[in-house]
Amino acid sequence: MTRAHNFNAGPAALPEEVLKKAGEEMLDFNGTGMSVMELSHRSKEYEEVHNEAAAGIKELLQVPDTHEVLFLQGGASLQFPMIPMNFLPDGGRANYILTGSWSEKALKEAQLLGQTKVGASSAEHNYTYIPGMENMDVDETDAYVHITSNNTIFGTQWQTLPDWKSPIIADMSSDILSRPVPVDQFSLIYAGAQKNLGPSGVTIVIIEKEMLHKIPQSIPTFLRYDTHADKNSLYHTPPTFAIYMLRYVLDWIRNRGGAEGMQERNNEKASLLYDTIDHSGGFYKGHAEKDSRSNMNITFNLPSEELNKTFLEKAKEAGFVGLNGHRSVGGCRASLYNAVSLESCEALRTFMLDFHKKHG
Ligand code: PLP
Repeated sequence: MTRAHNFNAGPAALPEEVLKKAGEEMLDFNGTGMSVMELSHRSKEYEEVHNEAAAGIKELLQVPDTHEVLFLQGGASLQFPMIPMNFLPDGGRANYILTGSWSEKALKEAQLLGQTKVGASSAEHNYTYIPGMENMDVDETDAYVHITSNNTIFGTQWQTLPDWKSPIIADMSSDILSRPVPVDQFSLIYAGAQKNLGPSGVTIVIIEKEMLHKIPQSIPTFLRYDTHADKNSLYHTPPTFAIYMLRYVLDWIRNRGGAEGMQERNNEKASLLYDTIDHSGGFYKGHAEKDSRSNMNITFNLPSEELNKTFLEKAKEAGFVGLNGHRSVGGCRASLYNAVSLESCEALRTFMLDFHKKHG
């Protein structure tokens, strides 16, 4: 069996140990004679998995007691409308910092529901950088300020996270648990699991308990955060298999030094590829400006469309998966989420160096 060098943008590579463990337990989870997928979500065996997964997020992200961890469905995309429904009151105004297509999508949903402003944007430069915090128009009257901590498509990432007075809401879909985060600075953090933390199906929400009192009575039951908080994310049937996998991925992260361990590992992986780009004499050209570079998604172009195409074809033949850039940036993108190994990054670096020699 050969495992692919998987650079998919999400769903993405999962730790081999976790996949093997799930395989071993597929027919008999914990002596139940059933797969975890066949258990009732009200059973004590499942509830244990559920609670351990939430406790794992709390421990590894050092979530303070002021915040709750929720497991929701609908992906990060359902959070886009849920946030303004719950937290953008009549007469209030929400502030969106635009750093890529996902922040644009979040803004679009808020615009359907209430008043918004754009506190900063790098759209005019095709999102090659994160605007400087000193230039952001943020003030205490904002109902909340929404940011996207890592821009999956453009390959940029906030290097320092903000600490403003207004409630800060962050889409961390593509960098959650890839580095330590000061959770106490955020009123709400959300992320689909399918890049850094597990398979698709579960959306992690970390919410400040105080926010739960702000929700208007008119919001439908299922779309209210307090419904899920009051019922330990068991108001309805949760995505039990995704949460089971999440729990094992969290164990895997814990065994590798937690958030700090992931950061070190991710820095090392990303440096290998950025170093290759920077020492290629312009053959590989990074999309992101250096001080905004993402450790998760490395976006680059070759000198011509023809070479981009040949690079992607040859890379595919050599066993590299998922290197096509998104259409808004073009070229190539290597996504280096937590479970992508250093060996895969070394293999890609070698491939890039060889390709440059042959085609440069
Ligand atoms: N936000 C970011 C930063 C993303 O990268 C993605 C998906 O790639 C999304 C939101 C959308 O997530 P989902 O497909 O879980 O709705």
